[in-house]
Amino acid sequence: KNLKKYYSITGGVFGKEVGVVKAVDDVSFTVKRGETLGLVGESGCGKSTTGRSLLRLIEPTAGEVIFDGVNVTALTADEMRRMRRHMQIVFQDPFASLNPRHNIEKILEEPLVVHGIGTPDERKKRVREMLEVVGLSSAHAQRYPHQFSGGQRQRIGIARALMLNPKLIVADEPVSALDVSIQSQVLNLMQDLQQELGLTYLFIAHDLSVVRHISDRVGVMYLGRLVELADSETLYDQPLHPYTRALLSAVPSPDPDAVRERIILQGDVPSPANPPGGCTFHTRCPHVTEECRSVRPAFQDVGGGHFIACHLYKT
Ligand code: SF4
Ligand code: MG
Repeated sequence: KNLKKYYSITGGVFGKEVGVVKAVDDVSFTVKRGETLGLVGESGCGKSTTGRSLLRLIEPTAGEVIFDGVNVTALTADEMRRMRRHMQIVFQDPFASLNPRHNIEKILEEPLVVHGIGTPDERKKRVREMLEVVGLSSAHAQRYPHQFSGGQRQRIGIARALMLNPKLIVADEPVSALDVSIQSQVLNLMQDLQQELGLTYLFIAHDLSVVRHISDRVGVMYLGRLVELADSETLYDQPLHPYTRALLSAVPSPDPDAVRERIILQGDVPSPANPPGGCTFHTRCPHVTEECRSVRPAFQDVGGGHFIACHLYKT
């Protein structure tokens, strides 16, 4: 609810504040139990910061995160540590996130040790079970991260996130670093695990085509703000926001007969350190009006849970 993460930029000899980066600027959304919410946007749009703020791996500047009725933004550090059992993260680069000096058994056992769960024997048994669950052989428990392929390492990253039986997984571009041929295997695994274990996913990606099949709903971010959010079918078939339309026009349609006009956006994404006023998309929008330059469009439900922040669609 109204999540914000601002960073101050300091400069000069005295380290004075010279500007503010609004990495996440007043973002509100809901993730329903058991669903996958895809969160999409170009690099620097604030999607990772949003995902990490939910788990308070990054402390939000303002706003609230309500998880299962609990305001996690108000928890003490100790309470938050306990809460993290239920909310885990899978990172983009499984190699960077796995300690190269530890074998897989030690890596997967660690969350249990941290939370004081089980005897050493019980923990080792759980590690072996979890390796099988993610499609790896339990015989691999003594190996080290470098002995696995990228896809296998991401399976290990997923296994680690699942060790504590979480309810919510924030998956931060979990397949972006993988070969295309491996991506669908990992996506399928994640979908199977969701079914079996009743997981809820916030699935972050920079590419709309990656989240299309895994997501029940999809949100699109631009320069720290959510600009559109709808159920997947609606978002892909009837996108409303000019930015979503442009993004989708660049994605090849699964229907070969569909004729889609390619929308080329002018210019680059402006710096989040000095974002445009009003609608942050106005410097690149083909439909910009005077109002767009000065008035920030509200993020509103235009019907059926289709949220949009654009002056073209006022309710
Ligand atoms: Fe374009 Fe204006 Fe809508 Fe922003 S508010 S997306 S500039 S039409
Ligand atoms: Mg990121």
